[in-house]
Amino acid sequence: MKKNNILRKPIFISATIVFSFFIGCEDPEPEQTGYIQTVPQDTFPDLGHDGPYFEDSIYFGRENYIEYHSGTIPIILSAAHGGWVEPDEIPNRTEGTTVTDINTYQLTKVIMDTLASHFGGKPHVILCLLERLKLDANRDINDASEGNIYAERAWREYHHYIDVAKELVAMNYGSGILFDIHGHGENPDGFYDLRTWLGYLISGDELDLPDEDLNSDEFKNQSSIRTLADTTTFTFVNILRGETSFGTLMDSLGYACVPSVNDSSPAGLRYFSGGYITDRHGSSDGSAISAIQVELPQPGIRDTGENWSRYASAFAKVIDAYYKFHMGRELEL
Ligand SMILES: [Zn+2]
Repeated sequence: MKKNNILRKPIFISATIVFSFFIGCEDPEPEQTGYIQTVPQDTFPDLGHDGPYFEDSIYFGRENYIEYHSGTIPIILSAAHGGWVEPDEIPNRTEGTTVTDINTYQLTKVIMDTLASHFGGKPHVILCLLERLKLDANRDINDASEGNIYAERAWREYHHYIDVAKELVAMNYGSGILFDIHGHGENPDGFYDLRTWLGYLISGDELDLPDEDLNSDEFKNQSSIRTLADTTTFTFVNILRGETSFGTLMDSLGYACVPSVNDSSPAGLRYFSGGYITDRHGSSDGSAISAIQVELPQPGIRDTGENWSRYASAFAKVIDAYYKFHMGRELEL
């Protein structure tokens, strides 16, 4: 017994030192349990420890779950649901949707490269490599990670890198646009809507309203493109689904979209108006970066490498036109 007591004392001291040194701002102080203190299971460096963030550099979060390409043009791409990594340290999520948006990681990188060659500078790109079963970065932190500290850390990194991209774009250009890339599949009844659903935080029912009702400050101010709509010379309804809207411009290149001139509303069909990322990172709060959620069907867009390239070329042409319409200047560097 005596020998044990002598041995235990130094262990207690060293545990205390380790414990004091590693407490970070993200971790609550662990409770003391009797004689031996509980050492935190894991602690993480402060977000931003890998900064400053340089143009054309790539950054990875913990265990490479999150990937950030720091860019040079005022366009940000996000793909939260295209990952495939399934680590044992994160249990499977038990609630909510866990369907992967197939090939959106790959497609988003092809769009990144295509924009880079079209505009002479890279967009900012944030990608989640974790399978959606492990993390859903398009939900609030509780639904996203169900309390697992490694999933929570990846969630914080994902949104941190978006925040970094937004700050850099706002600093260098004053404003910009985030495209949050997703994929949608067959409806529960087996019908597959082959149109792209564009989300602006305007619900399907609201899109059913006639132009004169929708073209109000109230709808503009709730939308994720509020700041863009405040600065363009076109009306809100025009930028939302008129001739200069992203949907109509994509439609003119063969990619039908809701909303657009030809498909002004979902008309009762299944439709997504924008999730957590669009809400948090768009400009409904009047901030500099506007956001559009892009829900892509798989056939003809996400299914083959050839179709990724075709879609990416159309996307670049449309960004070019959209930017000129609404930002009043060329995007080329
Ligand atoms: Zn998705």
